[in-house]
This record gives sequence, C-alpha cells and structure tokens, in this order.
Amino acid sequence: MKSISHRTITITASLFVSLLAFNNTSHAETDFSYKKSEITDSITMLHGAGGNIAVLKGAEGLLVVDNGFDKNSDALTAALGELGEAPSFVLNTHWHGDHTGANESLGGSVIVAHQNVRERLAKGSAAPREIQPAASAALPDITYDSGTTIHFGDQTVTAVHYPKAHTDGDTVVFFEPAHVVHMGDMMFAGYFPYIDPSSGGSVYGYTKAVAAILERIDDTTIVMPGHGAIGNKADVQKFYDMIVATSATVKSMKDAGKTLEQAQAKGLSDKWQGWGDFFIDEARWISILWAG
Ligand SMILES: [Zn+2]
Repeated sequence: MKSISHRTITITASLFVSLLAFNNTSHAETDFSYKKSEITDSITMLHGAGGNIAVLKGAEGLLVVDNGFDKNSDALTAALGELGEAPSFVLNTHWHGDHTGANESLGGSVIVAHQNVRERLAKGSAAPREIQPAASAALPDITYDSGTTIHFGDQTVTAVHYPKAHTDGDTVVFFEPAHVVHMGDMMFAGYFPYIDPSSGGSVYGYTKAVAAILERIDDTTIVMPGHGAIGNKADVQKFYDMIVATSATVKSMKDAGKTLEQAQAKGLSDKWQGWGDFFIDEARWISILWAG
C-alpha cells in the first residue's frame, strides 16, 4: 500500500452538499469495502461510496475510470487487487474528491484527464470550501482539451469532454464494442444532479451535454452514472426530461416575480418526488436552477 495523503478540508457551514459530495478526510475507513458488479466480461463497476468506478480488464492490466474518496484508497487497492494488478491507466471524469480521491495512491499509474482537472487539482480551492492543492503524484500525467482515445484490451476507450457542464473539466467515457458509457457526474440516476458553478459548471452547459450524450448512445447502451444504479438510454432520457421540465417550472416562477424562497416553498411537481432523496434535495435543486 502506498502512502495515504493527509489533506484536510475545511467545510463551510452553508455547503451542506459538500458533506456528502466532497468530504475528503484523510483517515482510512477500515470497515468499508467496495461492492463489485460485473457489467460485461471485461468491465466491472465498483460502488458503495463516492462516484461509481469502472474497471476495464485487458491483457495488459487494468484501466480505471474514477476512483472514489481518498479515505477509501485502501479499499480500492484491495478491490483492484482482486481484479488484477495496479491499473495501467486511471481516467478522471472531473476533479471532485469523490471521483479523484485515490489519485495519489494510484500515482504509479498513468493518470489521464481534461486539462482543467489537472489545473483545479493543482491549485485546490479557497472558496466556497477550502481544498488543499493535491500532491504531485495525484495530478494527471496526460491531459487533453476536447478528448482522447485509449486502445486498451479489447476495447476502444473514448474520452469526450463536455464544456461548462457539471464543472469545466467533465469527461464522459465510451467503451466500444462493449457499448458501455461512464457518464461521470453528467448523470445522477433518478436524482437531482449537483452542478458546480464554483468549478465552472453551468445548468445550460449541463443540459446541452446530456442532450449531446443522448444523441450518441442508443437503446442497447449500458449506462453507468456517476452516482446511482446502472441503467440505459431511457434512464438518461428521463433524467434529461426532468432537467428540462424543472428548469421550465423554475423559470416560470421567476418570470412571475416570485422570490427564490417563495419558489422553494411552492416546490416542484409531485412527479419529481424521490428525486431529492440523494444529496441535492428539491430546495437545493431549485436554487441551482434559479442561479442558472
Ligand atoms: Zn462531481
């Protein structure tokens, strides 16, 4: 086991979402282990905490998309050890700590990400929450602007950047011929998504990106969301329809002269009940759309 970093994070009181999404404390959780779901012969999903992790096994080793919280680095090493050697390639769908937390412990692998992921990890963040600059071992080794392709095992792994969406460094990863897509946080399955303007995200870009992804996949595509259960194109369509419908509702309340507080008090259609049960509740989702 390689070194565990001791980054500490100060969480500002108002950002309740960060408690779940970004709490990146340094102490290893000894009682946590990743659940494994076999997606295809060569692709496994690790899940149970943080963002979903895709593991592609090829003759040359493992390629991993996302890697969960720092505190679960040991659990990740254990889970990967059961699937093969340490990964050759580690892709980051974006810079958030629930997707890149084990970058440092996987620092011997080639880390690949959008250039803004490297920049944001290297800089850290002062506000809205303080995030220490990442150790150099945690920084991506290969960066790209619009995307890149890795030929690995029996798969062509295509990383496509969608600008100013969940953040300004989002990547969606397509595996062909497996016909699997890892959507990163461009998909919260059945839940209101977090959109992070402090990291360059926008509701407009997010909506546009999900529409573009829908164009690219078909009814037989296996969809791995950043958070939530494995699904298909119909689930992405439902997610997109929710964003469009709730955006329209919030816009009409704003146009009618309501305040944000009044809009939150009125709420959204009952149709979206349950969508607020993950870390973005209805009031928070309304405020994200309001600001967007
Ligand atoms: Zn995220």
